[in-house]
Amino acid sequence: MTNRNFAASVYLQNELAIVISGPSGVGKGTLVNLLIEANSSIAKVITCTTRAPRDGEINGVNYHFKTIQEFYQMIQSGEFLEYAEVHGKMYGTPLQDVNKIKGLGKDALLEIDVQGGVCVKEKLPDAIMIFIAPPSIDELERRLQGRATDSEETIALRIKNAVGEIEYIPKYDYLVVNADINTALEEIQAILHAEHLKIRKTKPCP
Ligand code: 5GP
Repeated sequence: MTNRNFAASVYLQNELAIVISGPSGVGKGTLVNLLIEANSSIAKVITCTTRAPRDGEINGVNYHFKTIQEFYQMIQSGEFLEYAEVHGKMYGTPLQDVNKIKGLGKDALLEIDVQGGVCVKEKLPDAIMIFIAPPSIDELERRLQGRATDSEETIALRIKNAVGEIEYIPKYDYLVVNADINTALEEIQAILHAEHLKIRKTKPCP
């Protein structure tokens, strides 16, 4: 082992928990997919939801789609790192899947809402918190309309919720404005590059 590797293994954090949040339609999903394509050392945690699959969504790939009963069973047995009601449906991050990804030596990426993000930060204080914001609410509405996957009613609810979500920005570590997808991707990669070089302040486990 070289001195540098020795120092890195003692002082740097290897597997990060990365939280990416932001309003629906901001482009989080696209950014996360591009990030994972470009970095084999990052894996997305497949979360659970009680909402119905959209056209083309696959169980176990996009989400673990659960009935309300199954979801509450998971809450009772303590399987979630966090869970929250978002846009009227339940969503939750299975703790086991986060640990499995970190156990493989990879960064675990959580694309979750702001309530979940705050909860993860409380449980995992070293988590890297990135908020993706739209250039404006008008632009967000335009993107949601263009997506054509949701009803008018759902779009209106998501716009209303976006205003509340933006108020959570101070609880995050980094703000990336997604005006241009390539620039936003570069910014996220720069954040993660720096975070991998950050000296941890807590003592590593023996
Ligand atoms: P969508 O229904 O559009 O896929 O997701 C709606 C919102 O739920 C998004 O903001 C997404 O990031 C969030 N979400 C997805 N999985 C989870 C989860 O496990 N926990 C929480 N708190 N939010 C989630």
